[in-house]
Amino acid sequence: MSPAPAPTDNDKKTMTLSHHLSDALIVDYASGSMGRAQSLVVATHLHACAACRGRVAQAEAVGGALLEEIASTPLAPDALDRALARIERPREAAAPEAAAGHARQPADWISVPVEVAEAAARRRWVAPGVWVAPVDVGSGDGALTYLLRVGQGMRMPQHTHAGCELTLVLKGAFDDAGVRFGPGDISEADDAVEHSPVIAAGQECVCLVACDNRLIVKDWLGRVVQAYAGI
Ligand SMILES: [Zn+2]
Repeated sequence: MSPAPAPTDNDKKTMTLSHHLSDALIVDYASGSMGRAQSLVVATHLHACAACRGRVAQAEAVGGALLEEIASTPLAPDALDRALARIERPREAAAPEAAAGHARQPADWISVPVEVAEAAARRRWVAPGVWVAPVDVGSGDGALTYLLRVGQGMRMPQHTHAGCELTLVLKGAFDDAGVRFGPGDISEADDAVEHSPVIAAGQECVCLVACDNRLIVKDWLGRVVQAYAGI
């Protein structure tokens, strides 16, 4: 499991997050069963979100206490109750390392782990207003992790997903089916979701994205962008 980074000066600005990690993501992350691509996105959200750090700590504490109970077989019917009772006040999840000195990361992003900050240097323009920068998390399982920059007011090509897509806003905002996602917010989509998010007016939007597989684009523009961007 990736550790969550320590909050830094970037996070001390008051940030109101509206969209947090789902329970399923919290459990997967805390139990260490999450792939590296998703883990990086989740860790970056945790960096900015004390509420979700607390939930991860709680899940880790419950998991640890349950494992101890299971080790003392046979499992008593009140094992869960006893495990819960033994948990002291959960500590905050350990904090991942932030980009060293923030020298590498743009000042107007939420603060990010160093490998995310470094990836920005590999940006490649793939369409007017759009750049993509791959993040190598060494997952080797076909999952894709990348930074995506889209200019203000632009609409993303209509697409769906083969598996799960996590999108974390590092800068700016986008609207998806009438819902606004701003800095620090995380969006979770799967193959049941076909969407075409629109970047909010005012400034560019930069997101960190993890996808189980390449996107399934639904229009010609998407096919062109995908061919160049490899996403
Ligand atoms: Zn959160």
